[in-house]
Amino acid sequence: MAKFVVAIDGGAGSGKSTTAKAVAKRLKFFYLDTGAMYRAATLKYLRCGGSTDNIDTALVREIIKHTVINLRQEGSKILVFLDNKDVTLEIRTTPVNNFVSPISALPEIREWMVQKQREVAEGKNVICEGRDIGTVVFPDAQVKIYMQADLKIRAQRRQKELDEKNIEADFNKVVENLKFRDKYDSNRVHSPLKKAEDAIILDTTDITIEQEVDFVEKIVRERLKEIPKIQNT
Ligand code: C5P
Repeated sequence: MAKFVVAIDGGAGSGKSTTAKAVAKRLKFFYLDTGAMYRAATLKYLRCGGSTDNIDTALVREIIKHTVINLRQEGSKILVFLDNKDVTLEIRTTPVNNFVSPISALPEIREWMVQKQREVAEGKNVICEGRDIGTVVFPDAQVKIYMQADLKIRAQRRQKELDEKNIEADFNKVVENLKFRDKYDSNRVHSPLKKAEDAIILDTTDITIEQEVDFVEKIVRERLKEIPKIQNT
């Protein structure tokens, strides 16, 4: 079991990663980016030549058996490794953006990922972000946050991130991709994107990164005070 879990869920580009990373740094928690894991699995499928018209489920099953995905924290950076090779940048490219939602909707993929996410969190204080963290992966998380923001703001932020990584992207396509993924992720049968009933909503449309990080940090610190044993171990 994880020690203390902060579950952050929300739509694409709602600010989950930025917030989770910064709060994890301030509180010295382990940061778990579950989206990066689904992206790495998708990259593997595409690299294996998997069809994007009809998902090749036999190939998916093979991939699950023979693929190793790891996240490593190096200083302030989170590096993503697929079969021991660094794919941190490649998982953010357009082909992966366009196909990650269909791959993530497969029950076999979700089972594999959720098991791995719980293993990684074992014995740690974690901030975990994704779509089903407060509902499925860690339903007993001590803090649950659901982040949201207007589509245009989310697309602007996403484009800025891509620019900083020198990944080319057309603004309208970024908007379309966010819309497509949110719709797909919210409507899938298995663990859809959904606010947990006991999650606190954080709308980041009109606030700064500093404000959203302060907001989450304050809630976590308050909750930690209620559970002093965990804080001091
Ligand atoms: O968080 P990020 O935008 O990188 O996630 C990429 C995709 O991975 C999402 O659009 C979704 O399809 C999938 N995902 C998921 N469950 C999670 C995290 C991500 O299905 N917990």
